[in-house]
Amino acid sequence: MNYTAIFETAVDALRREKRYRVFADIERIAGRFPHALWHAPDGPREIVVWCSNDYLGMGQHPASIAAMVEAAQQLGVGAGGTRNISGNSHQVVMLEHELADLHGKPAALVFTSGYVSNQTGISTIGRLLPDGLILSDQLNHNSMIEGVRQSGCEKAIFRHNDLDHLEDLLRKAGKERPKLIAFESVYSMDGDIAPIGRICDLAERYNAMTYLDEVHAVGMYGARGGGIAERDGEMGRVDVIEGTLAKAFGTLGGYIAANAPIIDAVRSHAPGFIFTSALPPAVAAAAQASVRHLKVSQSERAAQQANAARTKAALADAGLPVTISETHIVPVTVGDAERCKAASDLLLAEHGIYIQPINYPTVPRGTERLRITPTPFHDEALIAELTRALVAVWRKLDLPFRLRAAAE
Ligand code: PMP
Repeated sequence: MNYTAIFETAVDALRREKRYRVFADIERIAGRFPHALWHAPDGPREIVVWCSNDYLGMGQHPASIAAMVEAAQQLGVGAGGTRNISGNSHQVVMLEHELADLHGKPAALVFTSGYVSNQTGISTIGRLLPDGLILSDQLNHNSMIEGVRQSGCEKAIFRHNDLDHLEDLLRKAGKERPKLIAFESVYSMDGDIAPIGRICDLAERYNAMTYLDEVHAVGMYGARGGGIAERDGEMGRVDVIEGTLAKAFGTLGGYIAANAPIIDAVRSHAPGFIFTSALPPAVAAAAQASVRHLKVSQSERAAQQANAARTKAALADAGLPVTISETHIVPVTVGDAERCKAASDLLLAEHGIYIQPINYPTVPRGTERLRITPTPFHDEALIAELTRALVAVWRKLDLPFRLRAAAE
């Protein structure tokens, strides 16, 4: 048996389909975001990052850095164990109080990532529902899909944000059967938003629980950064709100917020919570500093929204096939894995602009794209530079423009 060949073949298949992933070797520069160093094959070069999920630059915010440095110096760099066995640091406990307050819930539970929150959170909630049915939006993130799979529940996939289809499935299941509706608020690849209130209406009508992934919305929307549910005044109607500390909050970790019995049950039964080491206290302290800051500061959110709007307008004016989403996410469609990678490579090598290509299975085949995420720090000059670079790359690769600009 040639074991090596098995693994080489697995990767060759990705290469053939032009989906083989190459990671750019990036070194962020504190205080200079979105500027960074790219360790190119011929040596380090300064670049501008246009695809970071550090949406508000909180990963380099002085308050968050200070909290992490201070905690690391005073408490050391590790948690020292699982939450159950000596890893339950005061900083994680405080962070959970901060997050519960953010979402107006009695309790919250922190995990080592947003991925783990969904995977172990949904699977545990599902396993505890007798004869449970999980209704899952078609475009849910892989972490939710894995959670649904591992729950052992029957699953019913509803068409993306399609309330009629969801209602159909709820009606068929009946009011008596335990049901969980799992969905996201901001969908990360198209930047569209779920009708949270109307999904909650259906959940109430058919007696279902709701589980909402706000990973791309926490810190970003709502007067205190509580997400789209806060913006829409629906937080109190969603049973479980899930978020990450690794995007707008700029650090690492994930969480769920809910009523005390749900949190206690997940805390007591979720393998992905019980059998793994806790978040280091310095990370928790930095995350808490970010959450606190964004509860009161509107300036990052406002600047980010303004720059996202400017970016969308500039790219659309240039005739680029940009999706004008309702949110901060700015997808530019290429529609082919090989050309998407070629566009990304050219942007980096010739223009010093880093936008990772997004290919299948992250998005459906034929919708491969560059996913652009403007931040408060991408000013007018950088937006103009991005637009020029994209137009040059589109011309060089003979990619389709959308509008009149193509003919100009
Ligand atoms: N949910 C969604 C919708 C996501 O896009 C992601 C990650 N991109 C996650 C959950 C996982 O979050 P984390 O990166 O904190 O693991």
